[in-house]
Amino acid sequence: MIKNNLINIKNSIPQDVLLVAVSKTKPIEAIQEAYETGHRNFGENKVQELADKFDHLPKDIKWHMIGHLQRNKVKFIAPFIHLIHGVDSFKLLKEINKQALKNNRIINCLLQFHIAEENTKFGLHLDEAISFISNQEFLELKNISISGVMGMASYTKDNSKIEKEFSSLIVIFDKLKAQFNNKDSFKWISMGMSGDYKIAINQGSNMVRIGSTIFGAR
Ligand SMILES: *Cc1c(COP(=O)(O)O)cnc(C)c1O
Repeated sequence: MIKNNLINIKNSIPQDVLLVAVSKTKPIEAIQEAYETGHRNFGENKVQELADKFDHLPKDIKWHMIGHLQRNKVKFIAPFIHLIHGVDSFKLLKEINKQALKNNRIINCLLQFHIAEENTKFGLHLDEAISFISNQEFLELKNISISGVMGMASYTKDNSKIEKEFSSLIVIFDKLKAQFNNKDSFKWISMGMSGDYKIAINQGSNMVRIGSTIFGAR
């Protein structure tokens, strides 16, 4: 089942859209099954679970941290994490840089923006992000690479609302891209989950995070 679900989704999305298979709460065997299709990008939202799964699974997996990340837990994933999606403060970015330096790595990060009307979702506002990336202190962080943006739409059946929220993330992406010197590495727009990834791709997403449609309900 997992293999079929994964292959069907891959065939239904454009080739230049990266699929992150969200395996949170699912056992090692489920990830192994997906891995056997050749899939390598997996997403988790809890540090402990992510670190455990890293230990037990093949080392060529690219692990994505998609959940809210606390500063005191960065050290547990810094040795291996491929991409951190939920960076929502400059303080967190500084800690990621510090831990990346200790591990002699450059860690890729996405800035998470608040695009939904619901006030429960984490994320930056554009002016906040622009203010810290234009700061000298930011320019001195040599062990992080800002690779793009991430956002979550409201949980609603109102597709036009979801569309609007996703398109606001595209506007943010374009405005930020204009600020960066190294424009080539700033390229990812991580938006879209099981319920809304088709809308997200239509709006310009090039990275979708899909869990339940692949692995079944949690
Ligand atoms: C759980 C989760 C997903 C995947 O959700 P599904 O609806 O199962 O596809 C995507 N992004 C984030 C941030 C998540 O926490």
